[in-house]
Amino acid sequence: MEQTLAILKPSAIERCLIGEIVGRIERKGLIISGMKMMQLDEKILREHYAHLVDKPFFPSIVESMTATPVVVMALSGKDAVKVFRMMAGVTNGRDAAPGTLRGDFCMSNQANIVHASDSVENGRIEVARFFRPDEIFDYKYSDIEFYYGDGEMAD
Ligand code: ADP
Repeated sequence: MEQTLAILKPSAIERCLIGEIVGRIERKGLIISGMKMMQLDEKILREHYAHLVDKPFFPSIVESMTATPVVVMALSGKDAVKVFRMMAGVTNGRDAAPGTLRGDFCMSNQANIVHASDSVENGRIEVARFFRPDEIFDYKYSDIEFYYGDGEMAD
């Protein structure tokens, strides 16, 4: 099944939003295939945000992303990348739609609560960047078929 990487950023950890975000992910029906807390550093952020390393605000991304540990999650499901990207909302919390994580919980373009992989290929690359293979678990919720229409999950 498709996988995507979610990072609960320091802006979520500092405000005790872990439970709220994990609850939304579970209720949506995305399967939590991997989850752990870790401290990010500049080295991994230079890889993860390679497209932003030359921007003037990159040092402030490093500062905000290393302010506390983060929670990283590998999420699985049909169209998991698109689904979690939509749950996150657009980058700037002030533009993000109500009902999305960024739209509901922040006012910031930077301290925007979660990371969500932006393509299927990046989902694969990012899960592999943050998780060892033995940290990813292949299981399903016992009622997972009820989150999908008949046969839809296997399409
Ligand atoms: P997204 O996280 O929505 O995929 P980007 O890949 O463009 O967005 O940016 C990665 C992260 O870098 C954003 O989530 C945000 O935390 C930070 N960021 C992006 N643009 C800016 C900016 N102009 N000023 C400060 N931080 C930014």
